[in-house]
Amino acid sequence: MKKRACFLKVKCICSNEQIIFEHSKSEVRCLVCNEVIGKSTGGKIKLDSRMKVLERLE
Ligand SMILES: [Zn+2]
Repeated sequence: MKKRACFLKVKCICSNEQIIFEHSKSEVRCLVCNEVIGKSTGGKIKLDSRMKVLERLE
């Protein structure tokens, strides 16, 4: 079976909701306030503790 790419719907501290790629290879920032949402680890992205995951999209 192929490993499916996952996306996460996260809510930023500024209340913006954004969909990010779980295995992003670069830092992900909020498009509204420019806060760092998550950092690349080489595997799954490490979300900032202030960000809330609302939904997991596969
Ligand atoms: Zn934000």
